[in-house]
Amino acid sequence: MSYPSKKRADILLTRGMILPLAKGPAPIHPGALAIVGDRIAALGPQEAVEKEYEAAQVIDEGGALIMPGLVNGHNHAAMTCYRGMADDLPLMEWLSQYIFPAEAKSDGNQVYWGTLLACAEMIRSGTTTFCDMYLFEDRVADAAKEAGMRALVGEVLYDFPSPHYGPIDKGIEFTEKLIRRWQGDSLIRVAVEPHALYTCSPGLLVRCRDLAEGYGVPWVIHLAETRSEVEEVSRKYGRRPVDHMESLGLLSSNLIACHCVWLTESEMDLLARRGVRVVHNPESNMKLASGVAPVPDLLKRGVVVGLGTDGCASNNNLDLFQEMDCAAKVHKVHRLDPTVMPAEVVLEMATLGGARVLGMEKEIGSLEVGKKADVVVVDLERPHLQPVYNVVSQLVYAAGGADVRDVIIDGKIVMKDRHLLTLNEKEILTQVRQIKKNILQRTNP
Ligand SMILES: [Zn+2]
Repeated sequence: MSYPSKKRADILLTRGMILPLAKGPAPIHPGALAIVGDRIAALGPQEAVEKEYEAAQVIDEGGALIMPGLVNGHNHAAMTCYRGMADDLPLMEWLSQYIFPAEAKSDGNQVYWGTLLACAEMIRSGTTTFCDMYLFEDRVADAAKEAGMRALVGEVLYDFPSPHYGPIDKGIEFTEKLIRRWQGDSLIRVAVEPHALYTCSPGLLVRCRDLAEGYGVPWVIHLAETRSEVEEVSRKYGRRPVDHMESLGLLSSNLIACHCVWLTESEMDLLARRGVRVVHNPESNMKLASGVAPVPDLLKRGVVVGLGTDGCASNNNLDLFQEMDCAAKVHKVHRLDPTVMPAEVVLEMATLGGARVLGMEKEIGSLEVGKKADVVVVDLERPHLQPVYNVVSQLVYAAGGADVRDVIIDGKIVMKDRHLLTLNEKEILTQVRQIKKNILQRTNP
């Protein structure tokens, strides 16, 4: 008697608790998940999947949680080099007296190693995709690709000369080159990224929008982050930030707006009506005392909202588990209402919500057959994670990035039992310690 042969998978995760979606049915336990190439081929009850699939590499997850990789919707990855360099300052003073002068003397090498450090930190804390805005963004793309991370990257553009490309025309040219260089890549995509309304003229904003639309890529901007931005934009243009963008015809579903802290009711209506996608960065907003973004009101209006850490110099880490905890709590205390921003809403922001913001929801953000295999395994056998009544609550309120055990991106294992497989962590740490010395020498000669 012959048995029908099983299908071949490349990787089979078994004996796990599978949480396919933040807001969905109860986890499958015990469950298994099969990966073929870069995609999820099957997931479901252990027995059913094991009956159908065999694999060269079988990983026994022993009751650990198998969940979608986290999406960091807004980052300046290479700012890891400035972690802890200047804290406890208002945004404008922090930017103009510390960050911009330090960045004026940075180079591609610093950005490359700073981004690798960020990738190591992100993978270790369960992030599989990030959206980045910075200088020397070609080096960010190289670093993310080497790390095996999924990224939407874009060179930061503004009216004044950049330490990287010089005058803005060169910045536009560089962005176009970057878009063409990475077209069709499995991991890296490119966006057009003007910095903010207080650093970009209306003319530049229109150019950026046109460039993005011409290539069919999104564009990203910091928007309505601080009260002083609202005052400056109002003084200069006679309109508040969102109204200013509307008057230029720039609000659309192709726009990713980071922060959106200072909004009026009518500005929130506008963002919803135009389908603008928003990234919430609660820890950065708290640390720089920028304010509390009206995220519950945006969600009520149907605005797509993702979660981001922002650059880690204003955070000061890239751990999205901590970010989720803050996102869930800051709105409760701000509104004196413990029912706002429940755990599953926050977890969705960090997974499928982030994927929607980046326009990648057909590929990532949840565990589904046919989607890319971006999978994170969280060890639950830890004192601070037991007992488990509700695993979503555990992830948002009790877990931390250090609880992540295995990470798979695009079907490739990038961390196994907390060992990074794509990066040489020791070399990265040595390099960034040297970069810190160089920064100190340059900024305090
Ligand atoms: Zn930012």
